Amino acid sequence: MDKGKYQPRDSMQSPRFSHPATFMRLPHVVDLTDVDIALIGIAYDGGASYRPGARFGPREIREQSSLIRPYSGPQKTYPFDRNNVADCGDIDTAPNSIDKTYELSEAGITRIRDTATMPVSVGGDHSITLPILRSIAKKHGPVGLIHFDAHPDTWDEYFGGKYFHGTPFRRAVEEGLVDTHRMTQIGIRGPLFGSDDFDFHKEHGIRWITIDEVRERGVRAVAEEMNQRASGKMYVSFDIDCVDPAFAPGTGTPEVGGLDSYEAVTFVRALKGIDVVGLDLVEVTPLYDGPGQVTALLAANLLFEFLSSR
Ligand code: MN
Ligand code: MN
Repeated sequence: MDKGKYQPRDSMQSPRFSHPATFMRLPHVVDLTDVDIALIGIAYDGGASYRPGARFGPREIREQSSLIRPYSGPQKTYPFDRNNVADCGDIDTAPNSIDKTYELSEAGITRIRDTATMPVSVGGDHSITLPILRSIAKKHGPVGLIHFDAHPDTWDEYFGGKYFHGTPFRRAVEEGLVDTHRMTQIGIRGPLFGSDDFDFHKEHGIRWITIDEVRERGVRAVAEEMNQRASGKMYVSFDIDCVDPAFAPGTGTPEVGGLDSYEAVTFVRALKGIDVVGLDLVEVTPLYDGPGQVTALLAANLLFEFLSSR
């Protein structure tokens, strides 16, 4: 396969401020044959418990990604030369049905990973990670998981419902999609429902690293532990609310005292060397974003840093 097949539209020929929005000004590609990494939107927010609107995340992140350039200085790489990366559009969702959305999302991800293409999914709320993991695990078996979030998302149910954005990782563990001894959560903080909220973690050997621990030990040390716990096929799920609302206000369930933008970028760069079979970036809610769409801008750059680490 020829590498470097898909390049961002040249900003001299196609100005950054007047192009039809795709992720990073990349071509929109439907035939996945030559695609190594597929950027896709999953524009569903029916799993949100508080502020809705993450269905508009992919659209705004596409807009805010138009400033991304083709070379990563810090990582010394041309990500679009190393891999064929394309915007493969949005997976169909059903805004009035989480069950139907799960079916459609799993089928959409399966179509991508069947061609040996890595899916990089842009949400949407965090409920979309479960159908992605269902598809990924059917190919690779239980995967390790690196999960950036303010919340553990391992609660059992909400208003009697088993499927929403606070439960995907409990369901994933119950369904055997994740190897819990290779599961690490980073950035956990904020008010909880009770002192027993982490009993599930203790029972299953899940490592959760609070923001206090990140502050005390430093990002480098925690990233090193993240790498040590990673082996074999890994999946990465990045909830933008792991970042402090001062840097990422556009999200559904904000929690104060989180990572800053630079720390978030540093963690994503530290994924280099890990065998990642898929990533999602979720919970960007543009309706609550700050001036300059800072949350969507950060999300676009986190995606670029991840691509640069491949
Ligand atoms: Mn989450
Ligand atoms: Mn969260």
